[in-house]
Order: sequence, then structure tokens, then C-alpha cells
Amino acid sequence: MSTLEIRDLHVSVQTGSEESKPILRGVDLTVKSGETHAIMGPNGSGKSTLAYSIAGHPKYTVTSGSVLLDGEDVLAMAVDERARAGLFLAMQYPVEVPGVSVSNFLRTAATAIRGEAPKLRTWVKEVKGAMEQLGVDQSFAERNVNEGFSGGEKKRHEILQLELLKPKIAILDETDSGLDIDALKTVSEGVNRARANGDIGTLLITHYTRILRYIRPDFVHVFVGGRIVEEGGSELADELEESGYERFITAAGAVS
Ligand code: ADP
Ligand code: MG
Ligand code: MG
Repeated sequence: MSTLEIRDLHVSVQTGSEESKPILRGVDLTVKSGETHAIMGPNGSGKSTLAYSIAGHPKYTVTSGSVLLDGEDVLAMAVDERARAGLFLAMQYPVEVPGVSVSNFLRTAATAIRGEAPKLRTWVKEVKGAMEQLGVDQSFAERNVNEGFSGGEKKRHEILQLELLKPKIAILDETDSGLDIDALKTVSEGVNRARANGDIGTLLITHYTRILRYIRPDFVHVFVGGRIVEEGGSELADELEESGYERFITAAGAVS
């Protein structure tokens, strides 16, 4: 049983060599094992900033508030420690890793997280099984990470990591953007498998409602202007699909 606790998080982004701009303005959120939370909001509302801050991206400065994983201070951890502690972050714009194959990347990551290299025979089987389930060709393992990957391949690579690295808490930023409907279904099935097997807590960050037809969240948080302005169950996602963010943007504008 794990808990990610985000308390009154304020974050500024560095916009120039000496300038920064406040983006997150007091985010409170608790994600527990087995729960799926969706953060939904219009473009520019700060959703990716939340993900980058938790990941420890150097451009994002936490000015106040805290992020705890099972009581441990995530913000005090180095980036690789965050992964070892059980946090997984899939970014909206994943980076290319030239010269490193998917297969080596996954084994290195698994070694770092598990604290020892997985036994080669069982590992090869694990990877093969995960790739089969995800519907990716075995030759995918020999390609360089994210080099020339299509949108769908990038997302499948993320889900492959999710299945093999077995994090406690996964944060998936715009896992649905740029996916055709088949890729969306495959990726959703992967997330649902991880949910069913691993007792994982998931924070799904998205602008669109369509992925929520395949991954039903337990909680939906509407994100506008760097903070959560409304919370509910999956019915809130249905409402957003019907009527969009307008009502929330207007209400947030009225109070700020
Ligand atoms: P979302 O993911 O909800 O679309 P973002 O977190 O990407 O929103 O962006 C929130 C705001 O912060 C936007 O106004 C964006 O322009 C600004 N911002 C985010 N990252 C940077 C950056 N690296 N440099 C400059 N501005 C940024
Ligand atoms: Mg955006
Ligand atoms: Mg974003």
C-alpha cells in the first residue's frame, strides 16, 4: 500500500536566464495504490508542470508545498532516487536516447530500480511476454529509444516500462495524445493490466476525455489556472465530454 501526497504545491517555471513565472498555485492531491485519478484541464493550465515538478525537471522550481511518497520527501530526492522509490513518470514529450536500444534501456532501468540485474533468462521472457501483450513486434527491442518512434510507439514504450518496472505510483502525461484508436485501446489495456496486476496508483493527465472511455478513473480533478478547481468521480469526465472546460474556466476567472 503506497500513498503519494501532494500538499499545497506552488511551482514556478524558468522562462529566461533570470526570469521565472508562477504556474502551480497550490495543488493538493492524494493518490493511493489501486486508485486511478484523472487530471483534466485546458491547454496551458499547468498539467505538465505538475508532472515535471514531481519528476524533478531543473526548469521547474518548487517555491512552497510538499510531495511525499509513503512519507518520504520526494522533492529532496535526486531524479534516479525518485524512480527507485517507486515513482514512474511518462512525459508528454519523451526524449530520444541515441545509441541505447529499448532492450538495454529497460534492463538498465530494471536493474537500477530493483537494485540488482534481473536474471537474463527470466528477463528475456518477461520482456517478450510484455511486448506480445502490447502488440509490438519483437524487433522493437533492438531499436534505439524514441529514435524515429511514432506517437503510438512512444506510448507503447512507456507502457512497456510500466509493465516491467512495476512502479508504486505512475504519472502518465497525455498518454493519449497523437494516438489512433487502435493504439489508444492497446495502451489503455496496458494501463488497465498494470492496474489489475500491480496494485498501482495511477495519475492520468489529459486534455481529452476519450481515453477515459477505456480507463475509467475513480476520481476526476479539473485543473484550471494552476490549481484543482473541481473534483468528482468518473461522472465528472462525462460532463466534461459533454460541455468542455468553459464553465470551469469562467468560474476560475471570477475568483482569481
Ligand atoms: P498543460 O500541460 O496544462 O498544457 P503546461 O504545464 O505545459 O500546461 O504549461 C503551463 C504554463 O506554463 C503555460 O503558460 C506554459 O506556457 C508555461 N510553461 C510551461 N513550461 C514552460 C517552459 N519550459 N518555459 C516557458 N513557459 C513554460
Ligand atoms: Mg499543453
Ligand atoms: Mg501538457
